[in-house]
Amino acid sequence: MTEDRKHHKVVIIGSGPAGYTAALYASRANLSPLLYEGFFSGPAGGQLMTTTDVENYPGFPNGITGPDMMDAFRKQCERFGTILLREDVESVDLSSHPFKIVGKKNVVTCDALIIATGATAKKLDIEGAGEDGFWQKGVTACAICDGAMPIFRDKELYVIGGGDSAVEEATFLTKYGSKVYLAHRRDELRASKIMAKRAINHPKIEVLWNSVITKIEGDKVVRSVTVQNVKTKEEKKREAAGVFFAIGHKPNTNFLNGQLDMDEQGYLIVKGDTSYTNKEGVFAAGDVHDAVYKQAVTAAGSGCKAAIDAERWLSEKGLGD
Ligand code: NAP
Repeated sequence: MTEDRKHHKVVIIGSGPAGYTAALYASRANLSPLLYEGFFSGPAGGQLMTTTDVENYPGFPNGITGPDMMDAFRKQCERFGTILLREDVESVDLSSHPFKIVGKKNVVTCDALIIATGATAKKLDIEGAGEDGFWQKGVTACAICDGAMPIFRDKELYVIGGGDSAVEEATFLTKYGSKVYLAHRRDELRASKIMAKRAINHPKIEVLWNSVITKIEGDKVVRSVTVQNVKTKEEKKREAAGVFFAIGHKPNTNFLNGQLDMDEQGYLIVKGDTSYTNKEGVFAAGDVHDAVYKQAVTAAGSGCKAAIDAERWLSEKGLGD
């Protein structure tokens, strides 16, 4: 549905599970939300558009592809009156109310704003890791999403990173791989002591200290990696079926220009167990405020919370009808 109305009760920025779920709830509450799906920032649907099978979203016993799932989310909120705009938001002005949303082509205002712009998994520019190499053919940035794929079963797998995500993902991958190597660029893990200990002591995990992967090779899928010791510069080609980036995520909050409270990594801070940000009328949903769980199902749940919070806030302010 398209419309050129310039003021909206609710605007949602972001088209992943959090944004579409917020839109579903807001449209069923007759708030006719406008949802910015993004354009150059990536495909509508967010991170799931680069995932193959989603097998951990409840309700799909046979799994569903990421793109099919997001298409269903999109159609469901559109059915109830969400206005979808295929445009990137360049900036927002939260200094006065109604809030101003400046997109590439349109400027709109809104009473309540839901930010669901997600986070982007960081990747490294390693030879063979890109779209023209083995990205999604053994190279991924989400062990929990992709680890159960048959190509990884009983094979040697490599996780890059030394933080909590890396040790958690390496531990998770021991269910599938024959051996999991944690390639970390330093000689000490950043991960919390307890999680690091669990990984170091795990019989199927071996930490490759002071190590980076410099090359990924294969045929249709990954077959080997070249590991370099950063101290000795020695390089060794090793058998591998999977490379998992776990070097952190970057929340997509630059466009906010510091107008909302964020932690040192840029994740939005919400009040307690709600979606309220420090700015009245602005709500956060999904990975943009979640450095810990980062799952489609938790993002969808928080999108629901944000829409309910926004609806109640609008009613309290007499802006709901
Ligand atoms: P993180 O703590 O920022 O760790 C990123 C890791 O990637 C670091 O070890 C870093 O190395 C490495 N790295 C970064 N850039 C690199 C590069 N260019 N080349 C090679 N290695 C690179 O990120 P995270 O592990 O995703 O965790 C993010 C937050 O979520 C943390 O606060 C974490 O505690 C939390 N978290 C919690 C849990 C849990 O409690 N269950 C699980 C996951 C995440 P250096 O150490 O050398 O900098």
